[in-house]
Amino acid sequence: MSTYRHFRNRIRIGPVEVATFRDGRGRERHVTACTAPSCGYSVTYLDRAAAELAARTHRCSA
Ligand SMILES: [Zn+2]
Repeated sequence: MSTYRHFRNRIRIGPVEVATFRDGRGRERHVTACTAPSCGYSVTYLDRAAAELAARTHRCSA
């Protein structure tokens, strides 16, 4: 997640963080990233609701 900047609306659901940012072309993107060190789960979504749903349903393998 450190490669992204200007995160907004950061929330945490269990071990997973959801945040909104603008990509290099100014489009809004929503990233879901697990904070468990050995998990590595991180997915970018076009839709905030989809990102939050993914965070809630993430089954951590770490
Ligand atoms: Zn995880």
